[in-house]
Amino acid sequence: MKLADRLSLIKPSPTLAITAKAKAMKAEGIDVVGFGAGEPDFDTPEYIKQAAVDALAKGKTKYTDTPGIPELRDALTAFYKKTEGLEYKRSETIFSNGGKHSLYNIFMAILSPGDEVIIPTPYWVSYPDMTLLADGKPVFLKTEEKNGFLFTAGDLERLVTSRTKAIVINSPSNPSGAVYDEATLKAICSVAIKHKITVIWDEIYKDVYYGEGKLRSLPYYNPDVKPYTLIVGGLSKSYSMTGWRIGWTLGDAAIIEGMNIIQGQSTSNPVSFAQYGALAALNAGLTHLPAWVEEFRKRRDYLVKELNAIPGTRCLNPMGAFYVFPNVSGWFGKSWRGGVIKDSYDATAFLLETARVAVVPGDPFGAPENIRLSYALSMGEIEKGVDRIRKAVAELR
Ligand SMILES: *Cc1c(COP(=O)(O)O)cnc(C)c1O
Repeated sequence: MKLADRLSLIKPSPTLAITAKAKAMKAEGIDVVGFGAGEPDFDTPEYIKQAAVDALAKGKTKYTDTPGIPELRDALTAFYKKTEGLEYKRSETIFSNGGKHSLYNIFMAILSPGDEVIIPTPYWVSYPDMTLLADGKPVFLKTEEKNGFLFTAGDLERLVTSRTKAIVINSPSNPSGAVYDEATLKAICSVAIKHKITVIWDEIYKDVYYGEGKLRSLPYYNPDVKPYTLIVGGLSKSYSMTGWRIGWTLGDAAIIEGMNIIQGQSTSNPVSFAQYGALAALNAGLTHLPAWVEEFRKRRDYLVKELNAIPGTRCLNPMGAFYVFPNVSGWFGKSWRGGVIKDSYDATAFLLETARVAVVPGDPFGAPENIRLSYALSMGEIEKGVDRIRKAVAELR
């Protein structure tokens, strides 16, 4: 059978693909060091699991309101009031099946054919494909490694057209770990307000930050941008709850209602008992996180130092999230038994086959000279993986 035309617009998620391949190799008994995973290696805090177990025991196993149980939506508004000083009403919130689903519903709710979405490179792989699935047009805002993979308000404004509907900002960024400073964000807010552009503010890594102080939601930097901002967050990364599938959006009530209608005709509510786990998580706050961030910081420091010492490898110091994104163009043109390394896909194949190390190519993130390594694995595994990479690269001719 001929499948739908829309399938030809998009590609399978490369991060999920590499993780699956590494898992398959491990299942065959091959000792692979997996730097592919996009999820923390910590366990979900016990009290959250218990809240879900209790909900099951109490029979909370039926459909809920599509955007989530009222007490969870209220816990979310209370959480943002407490942590950001931002006021949202229940009608300005919706829970979806993970932050990824939140984003998908946003694109489906706001885009009409030909509407443009500005996506800074390097980008999370799903933004362009979701835009395309929703009949939108991705417009790439290219950032440079020498500028820390960051863009300025001027760079943004140059790409604005009469069809610009939204910009996606992911700070800290997956894959680069880049974080925007306050002055840049203020200037970006001004451009968004002036041109009435929706800012899709993906703050899934907001609390995994290595700098001074703490990062805030966009409207903190300029309250006037609040009506234009859709805050997307979730529990996957900061609570290590990737499998629970809990994400949220806060923003304009009309857009939230549009998302609600789409969600109501596709998935309905997020899993009922997962919502009760999420309720316990939001009520408790992020008390577990400082210890995790300290652990991530040690791993980051080690990886950045070691990777920069490998010939042909150049690695910026990420300020958030849990990925390093080294430039490996110094390996291009060199040979191993599998052939000449021409691009980031070849670099990935080379590492998997000679070093038994799984990484993700930068090409699908819009950064063809880079590879992404997650450091959500133990220090011992990281050391083993780096050692293997060093040895494999030393063999390149
Ligand atoms: C992980 C991630 C998300 C959301 O993941 P979910 O598991 O669907 O909650 C959103 N944006 C980025 C950039 C991510 O890395």
